[in-house]
Amino acid sequence: MDPRLSAGYITIDLVAIQKNYQKLLSLMEANDCAAVVKADAYGLGAQMVAPALHDAGCQKFFVAIPEEGVALRRILPDVEIFILGGLFPDCEEVYVHERLAPVLNSLEEIETWSKLTQSHGPLPAIIHIDSGICRLGLLEADVNALAANPGIMDGIEVEYLMSHLASADDFKNPQNQEQLDTLTGLIAKLPEGLRNTPVSFANSSGMFHGTDFRFELGRPGIALYGANPTPHLENPMLPVVEWQGKVLQVHDVDSGKPVGYGATYRTSKRSRIATVSIGYADGYFRYLGNKAEVSINNKRVPVVGRVSMDMITIDITSLDEGECERGDLVYLIGESVTLDYIAEKAGTVAYEILTSLGQRCHRRYLDAGA
Ligand SMILES: *Cc1c(COP(=O)(O)O)cnc(C)c1O
Repeated sequence: MDPRLSAGYITIDLVAIQKNYQKLLSLMEANDCAAVVKADAYGLGAQMVAPALHDAGCQKFFVAIPEEGVALRRILPDVEIFILGGLFPDCEEVYVHERLAPVLNSLEEIETWSKLTQSHGPLPAIIHIDSGICRLGLLEADVNALAANPGIMDGIEVEYLMSHLASADDFKNPQNQEQLDTLTGLIAKLPEGLRNTPVSFANSSGMFHGTDFRFELGRPGIALYGANPTPHLENPMLPVVEWQGKVLQVHDVDSGKPVGYGATYRTSKRSRIATVSIGYADGYFRYLGNKAEVSINNKRVPVVGRVSMDMITIDITSLDEGECERGDLVYLIGESVTLDYIAEKAGTVAYEILTSLGQRCHRRYLDAGA
């Protein structure tokens, strides 16, 4: 589509993603780092993002569901693809055919995958241990059962043991150390042949908890895409996403006038209000009305009134004449307005902001050639 017809622009910096990957990989020292590209690479477009990560040296990819794995296999024929959601029922043959390695979350999944090796030969997988998030993975009773009957995993090439942190972004939370202790305790109870299997434990934030948490394979997602994995410190990652809307109209408004649905904002003096072409249908959360700021010419101005489906209104009274006119672009994310700032203002996390970005903005990808 012609970009002039779009609601706005989303710029995705693939070089920044590559540099972020290399930074995370360097934390792993002699060990390896995968990339999590589930949910269409957190909404940024796995078709573009995954090959860029591959060019940066990434050989191992995690997605959530088999459909994402099949799509990724079409673009990257030679990489390892792991399915976090596990072995989905009734489609095991697709995993074999597409060389998708399941993260085996239960004894039942282990047995099913093992049975397939009888007809297909050895098959790769990850075994997931639940160390305290209570979502997916083997609990202590399952680990004991596996230790008592290791034959149920015959034929499976267990590449990694895996576990997932529940509170990794909260660096003071004792749950992090508790999960690490639980994991090492459970690994010691595994069948002997599994105890020395390499481990993947840390997501983005987990990788910043120190060497004890890193093990043999990092498993970052959000830090690749520019959010801060260390919220108590300055962001060590490069920003990846810029988001711009178009000024559709500028109004000079008298003091005391209501702005937007429900008249939730009223001008307190003679004001200039600009209407911008982005709304909640584009992923600009309705909760941001009267809360967030946008940036124009490196100056911040407030979003006033409710967020509509297709528009927001911003108060540009503080700007100089001519700094914000019809057709100009406004940063919803960019300049000093960060992804993490918008997430915080919207009462959510960067993950939800990225995966909510709509399809009405023209997407531009910056690569090394750009
Ligand atoms: C999504 C996910 C990740 C990546 O987490 P980030 O916080 O984005 O780094 C890693 N492991 C599992 C199991 C996940 O579901």
